[in-house]
Amino acid sequence: MSSVEIYNPATGKLIESMAADDEAAVAAKVDVVKAASPAWAAKPLQERLSILATFRALVAAHTDDLARTTTRETGKPITQARNEVRGLDGRLAFFLEHMASQAATLTVHQEAGLQEQISWEPLGVVGNISAWNYPYFVGGNVFVPALLTGNGVVYKPSEFALGTGLKIADLLWQAGVPKDVFAVVVGGGAAGAALLQAPINALFFTGSYATGVRVAQQAARNLCKVQLELGGKDPIYVMDDADVAAAAAAVADGAFYNAGQSCCAVERIYVHEAIYDAFVRHFVETVDTFVIGDPNDESTYIGPLTRPTQLEVLADQVSDAQAHGGKVLRGGERLARPGFYFAPTVIAHANHSMKLMRDESFGPVIGIQKVRDDHEATVLMQDTVYGLTAGVYGKDLARAKTILRSMKTGSVYFNCCDRVSPRLPWSGRGHSGLGSTLSTLGIQAFMQPKAWHLRQA
Ligand code: NDP
Repeated sequence: MSSVEIYNPATGKLIESMAADDEAAVAAKVDVVKAASPAWAAKPLQERLSILATFRALVAAHTDDLARTTTRETGKPITQARNEVRGLDGRLAFFLEHMASQAATLTVHQEAGLQEQISWEPLGVVGNISAWNYPYFVGGNVFVPALLTGNGVVYKPSEFALGTGLKIADLLWQAGVPKDVFAVVVGGGAAGAALLQAPINALFFTGSYATGVRVAQQAARNLCKVQLELGGKDPIYVMDDADVAAAAAAVADGAFYNAGQSCCAVERIYVHEAIYDAFVRHFVETVDTFVIGDPNDESTYIGPLTRPTQLEVLADQVSDAQAHGGKVLRGGERLARPGFYFAPTVIAHANHSMKLMRDESFGPVIGIQKVRDDHEATVLMQDTVYGLTAGVYGKDLARAKTILRSMKTGSVYFNCCDRVSPRLPWSGRGHSGLGSTLSTLGIQAFMQPKAWHLRQA
């Protein structure tokens, strides 16, 4: 039987080993959820709302324990892990408030003897393959609305956030979600692939583009609904009228928060030539204030990377950038200490011949490129296969809107970055994904319409 090994990224040491579900075990879990979900869907909505409200209270009561579990297995600094657990509360509040209005039957036409209505039904069994970098957010964006709308869920946390996933499941069960309505699959990629062999009705996947494509191909055999939240190479342009110091501080946070392991982390920076030198100076000053250390320390801002394999990807991007004229102003290499630490790295004189400006870094490495004007910035920002977010810093909103309107991204930012709101749809275009979570669209995504043609006899 294969197993999942959980390592502490801050030390590189094994924390725990757990037996993984094989294909037969995954299929059996899907069968159990399939059999139980109609009864869950048949419950009055109020009952499901009340159970998820209890889950919300339990999460709040266990904030510290949940955050510590996540820090231990992902290396996310404890303050940032706590921020994430607390952030789940706002998402739960949104879903609980808006669920009833989204589930209401709509009468769309009425005439003598004829009524036309749309009612909403759950999809059935939702497969939820989640990522490790924000396990509460990316998991919660799926299992919360999925359960509220009456679906059964088979949840596969990432093997790098397995302890977190198991704690989430335990709190859902304690809150009153039946165990046969919410099942957890333990395992890595093979367990995820087994989930796709089973007769699920929908797959909500968060992860990389490469795995997303593989998963969508496998899911096509069952013709099940597929939503994908994938990677990004999110650009920021700093215009010449920006408050340079404030923009540099905010963009540095957007690039380095969670050691750059955010789907919407700032991955490329373009700066107008008139303020380029000042911006780079302020940016580096901000990076110098970042405390690197044990993720359990309250003062730590940058911890280790979660996956050791990413260390090589980053080292390769740095040497490739240097070979193409990049100047390493800070960092540039793995830190000489136990665990999977990479020094926060700032590379100036970046350009698009570098992997650094084209491929997802997903780590604490950022390139800054000088641009002549808005046109050059726009062309460079659009030079990507990804389409998650893009942002502009400056004072002139009309000028920024001209640029942001042309972005082929699901979200755009003005004077902010690396931001997600429960009230707004979260979606990617191109290689960044398919479909929306969050907002009312992220509730509708878990329901299918039934059209009623009601003619009076
Ligand atoms: P991966 O694509 O490696 O893995 C994602 C999930 O898929 C994990 O649970 C993984 O399991 C599982 N998996 C791996 N192989 C298969 C397979 N063949 N069939 C089914 N499931 C499989 O991504 P990461 O976990 O490394 O996440 C990082 C990526 O996620 C980045 O690209 C990031 O940008 C993106 N992301 C996007 C977000 C968004 O909102 N757009 C949000 C968060 C992350 P296991 O981990 O156990 O191997």
